[in-house]
Amino acid sequence: MSSNILDGRKISAEIRSSIKEEVEKLKERGINPTLAVVLVGEDPASKVYVSQKEKGCEETGIASRKYALPAETTQVELLSLVRKLNEDKEVHGILVQFPLPAHLNETKVLAAMNPEKDVDGFHALNVGKLVSGQPCFESCTPKGVITLIERTGIPIEGKSAVVIGRSNIVGKPVAAMLLARNATVTIAHSKTKNLPEVVKQADIVVAAIGKPRFVTADMIKEGAIVIDVGINRLHEGLVGDVDFEEAVRKASWITPVPGGVGPMTIAMLLQNTLKAAGKQGG
Ligand code: NAD
Repeated sequence: MSSNILDGRKISAEIRSSIKEEVEKLKERGINPTLAVVLVGEDPASKVYVSQKEKGCEETGIASRKYALPAETTQVELLSLVRKLNEDKEVHGILVQFPLPAHLNETKVLAAMNPEKDVDGFHALNVGKLVSGQPCFESCTPKGVITLIERTGIPIEGKSAVVIGRSNIVGKPVAAMLLARNATVTIAHSKTKNLPEVVKQADIVVAAIGKPRFVTADMIKEGAIVIDVGINRLHEGLVGDVDFEEAVRKASWITPVPGGVGPMTIAMLLQNTLKAAGKQGG
């Protein structure tokens, strides 16, 4: 079977363009959607992610406010900023870029955040709502994965889905979102036995492992949808967790790396910010 490529750059550009229209409508009603982005320290990858988020805001007309704090910022200082942003009526979404420096507690930062402004969807209340099937802010990368699957036009309901990886930021929420859409979901991880056979059963494979080209074509069922979340930096450039060159021959739809899930993450953050602004603005 020859694959159709799920082009995350193109799909995310379409989504950003519709967000831009919605932002303009909110502005006409006097609501100026605003995202506060908090960056602590000098981590180079985090700096790149934050600037991509600012760029996405600018492109869609969402105001972004950046708070760049020094690496030695204390827990008390960071929590105080989060609480200040919670109270600020002009700020609709708050994003604290993780990972934080080791002396700061990410769980406490998330707990301090107003769940209504948690556009990253990591507050325990939003995670609990996701798992119990209530409306919530869905976290951005998992929401991007689901949006890409939905773009294939193939119904998720009744499909067998295998998610490889069980992290709190990707694997578990992707599995919860697939279950909410009535897939039969298996979560595979580092202790899973007979992984190739497990993956081979799947109509939908989501790879979120962090190991270059880990999922090989022989693990993939003919005609499966394959979503590659992995980002691995090798000397030859960025590669995913799926051996794309071979898997592309087996899958019905597949995401490339780069240009698949990555661009979707920011589009989903902008979508969540728009939703937060709409809700808070009444
Ligand atoms: P993580 O390290 O927290 O989790 C990796 C998961 O892979 C673990 O649950 C582990 O059980 C599983 N795993 C490890 N070795 C395995 C093996 N041999 N067999 C089966 N499972 C195995 O990673 P993460 O934060 O979930 O990220 C996963 C990948 O996705 C990384 O490459 C990361 O860079 C990428 N990522 C991309 C985006 C994006 O926007 N595209 C966002 C977040 C993460």
